[in-house]
Amino acid sequence: MNQKPKYKEYDACIIGAGIAGIFLAWLLGSKGKKVLILEKNAKVNMNGADILKPSGINILEKYGLLQELLNKECRIRDQLGVFYNGIHVNQIDYKAENERGYFMVCPYSILLEVIYDKIKKIDTIELLVNQSFSKINEAKKGVYITLKSGEEIYCPLLIGADGTQSMVREYADIKAHINYYDHVMYFNKYPITSSVEELNRLYIDQDGGLAYFYPINNKEARCVLGFNIKEGKALKESENRENLISRLRKFVTHSDDMLNQIDSLDNFLTFPLCSMHSEQYFKGKIILLGNAAHSIHPVTGQGMNLAVEDTGELFIWLSKYFDGEISLEEALSSYKERRFELNSKILAYGHRLASSFGNETDFMNSLNSKIQTSSRDPSIFNNI
Ligand SMILES: Cc1cc2nc3c(=O)[nH]c(=O)nc-3n(C[C@H](O)[C@H](O)[C@H](O)COP(=O)(O)OP(=O)(O)OC[C@H]3O[C@@H](n4cnc5c(N)ncnc54)[C@H](O)[C@@H]3O)c2cc1C
Repeated sequence: MNQKPKYKEYDACIIGAGIAGIFLAWLLGSKGKKVLILEKNAKVNMNGADILKPSGINILEKYGLLQELLNKECRIRDQLGVFYNGIHVNQIDYKAENERGYFMVCPYSILLEVIYDKIKKIDTIELLVNQSFSKINEAKKGVYITLKSGEEIYCPLLIGADGTQSMVREYADIKAHINYYDHVMYFNKYPITSSVEELNRLYIDQDGGLAYFYPINNKEARCVLGFNIKEGKALKESENRENLISRLRKFVTHSDDMLNQIDSLDNFLTFPLCSMHSEQYFKGKIILLGNAAHSIHPVTGQGMNLAVEDTGELFIWLSKYFDGEISLEEALSSYKERRFELNSKILAYGHRLASSFGNETDFMNSLNSKIQTSSRDPSIFNNI
């Protein structure tokens, strides 16, 4: 009599159904691989960044997703107006800086939904929500994972795509260097206004104030506000609209129609801001991807982009491994080689920029149009 195997087997197990996890699962599933994704929340995470830069768009185009995103409500933009202490100090022009000539405002939820809809049609991908792991045991040939439900899984490789606070990273005992910022950002959306339709405007002030307004579709505008933590807390707790608006009016000079819509910070989403880089991108058969490997200040607009870039790169090397062309060790070393140094430099850029708000000269010297528009030309990183 055949005995039921104790362990359910997959080609890959992915922890975390954010953009990195979902995108990689779809790519591997499209190749016929049997993939398990575990998501600790009851639903796939729909909260995240909005901006896709040319480097990320290139990857999505390569895998046939660009046209579909354009058919959704994603907006194409090519200009960013940068203001310091209320004065227009820079105009970043994607047409001049990057051959693609534009970036996209593509809310996280839209990108996730497009890929998630594809995943549902692939039989070899299994997504378990409200689920995570309780134990990981790495053996010579693969990884044994005990799920919170008690079920036992075996796969040749495990991918931690479980965000900045990655438990997989902790389990693999991979150290990460984290700098928390004394800065908090608040995210909300309002009906679109003519100033937002006209131009994406990023405002910074010398006391840590930040405001960024841009369209997320034809009807709504994203409103991102930022303050030093103490000031943000006081403005939120005072529940006084006048305090908040008069603070914003000190440096938000061309967006009255947006300020008129803001009542309080109450309904804004917020999360701790940090710069983080893990020392390794893999250990044995355990791999880190996206925000599990690194986290960058949102002012760079690179978070979702880097997750997409990492995933595209990892998929190239895992494909070669699954096709029997190279060993897993070679595949993972190549992934690390292609991404680690580059990500280090982009993170260093983001950290320098996010630490420069207090001084106009520092800020202007830190803001690099080429990196901001996501050029990956190594020569632009020489002085970073
Ligand atoms: C509101 C918001 C606004 C943002 N705005 C910007 C911005 O303007 N610019 C920018 O650069 N970046 C921004 N970001 C960050 C950007 O969204 C991330 O860099 C990007 O989502 C990284 O994708 P990821 O898949 O690596 O991680 P995540 O999107 O964090 O996904 C990780 C997933 O893993 C799941 N998970 C975590 N732990 C476990 C576990 N133990 N078991 C199972 N599942 C687990 C989580 O629930 C989540 O679904 C923003 C993020 C948020 C939340």
